[in-house]
Amino acid sequence: MHLLDKCRSFTRAREVMAAGYYPYFVPIERSNDTEAYVNGERKIMVGSNNYMGLTHHPCVIEAAQAALKKYGSGCTGSRFLNGNTDLHERLESRLAEFIGTEAALVFSTGYQTNLGVIGTLVGRNDKVYLDKLDHASIVDGSRLSYGEVARFKHGDLEGLRRQLESERASGLEEVGRMVVVDGVFSMEGDIADAPGLLKLCEEFDAVLVLDDAHAIGYLGPTGAGTAEYHGLGDRVPLTIGTFSKSFASIGGFVAGPEPVIHYLRHHARSLMFSASMPPASVAAVLAALDIIQKEPERRERLWQITYRMMEGFRSLGFEIGPTQTPIIPIMVGPMEKTFAFWKAVFDAGVFTNPVMPPAVPENSCRLRTSYIATHTDEQLDYVLDTFGKVGKALGVI
Ligand code: PMP
Repeated sequence: MHLLDKCRSFTRAREVMAAGYYPYFVPIERSNDTEAYVNGERKIMVGSNNYMGLTHHPCVIEAAQAALKKYGSGCTGSRFLNGNTDLHERLESRLAEFIGTEAALVFSTGYQTNLGVIGTLVGRNDKVYLDKLDHASIVDGSRLSYGEVARFKHGDLEGLRRQLESERASGLEEVGRMVVVDGVFSMEGDIADAPGLLKLCEEFDAVLVLDDAHAIGYLGPTGAGTAEYHGLGDRVPLTIGTFSKSFASIGGFVAGPEPVIHYLRHHARSLMFSASMPPASVAAVLAALDIIQKEPERRERLWQITYRMMEGFRSLGFEIGPTQTPIIPIMVGPMEKTFAFWKAVFDAGVFTNPVMPPAVPENSCRLRTSYIATHTDEQLDYVLDTFGKVGKALGVI
């Protein structure tokens, strides 16, 4: 069999395209934070991760423009060699202060952060434990490591305890252990039981890593994420985050003890062998962080919108799962029906994300909706009204 035969025999996506239901790589022609234009038509955006509504904030755009002029359009190299700027370093100290850790390290994407942190710290004789619903970049980072990878059922702390205990019983005391979970699960919207996980990790001498990609910026009294939400102070050893969501840019970071950050600076391959974040993107994050810290009313508005939409979908009769955050999945079930649902709401002017296996289990296909602090009540009413009509027409409610 020729290596490329699998590409020629891959027909699934083309079938969906031919049926007129293809929902991926939708080309957006222009946008503001709560609206996107596709084929000249306006869509209300409930399919982004722009939780704080900062991607089009004038201060964020001005900061990016000023950095573009001062430093140019790209760094053309890794931070390790020629691609480090004073902006990158300023962002690291601001993040360490924001999260409440000794130090922080900025990578070019959140994905690369997980590859770098897990892949580097979990060594040959170590073991990493993942929640089954962890993000793909956590799985890939674990695969890149030389350690052993174990999975536990979503949120099943008892299952994790049993795994840790059986290892202890078999005398593998010397193994280094890491437990990595999403702080907020990206497809379900539920918040990790960080206090329970931390207790287990402390008992079994494991390092807890929270990937706060979908938490940082809005979760917790100051937006510092899952640990802050649970009142854990600085007890969580490592926090990972991205700038591609509430921070309105691109990039990622890890925050933790200085010796660990220092080690990662000199060992993480996804940092050392990949070009750094463009300065304009770093400046955008710094401006977004200023706003996140100065305007708590944005967080308040986001929570108000979140509860309103949860209540709205539930009272229409939709199943939205265990969500606790602005990520609200609308459960549809079978794949065909989910594509049809996506198309109907899209044609009616609402931009959502269909989520299919392998991202979620078979028959638990859904439309992922997510909310922005700058959505207007009018937009939200329109979204609920549209979902209600389509849900009834397709027999989902
Ligand atoms: N971690 C989690 C939990 C995510 O959801 C994502 C992206 N959706 C990432 C990491 C990767 O972040 P980025 O898009 O910045 O590469």
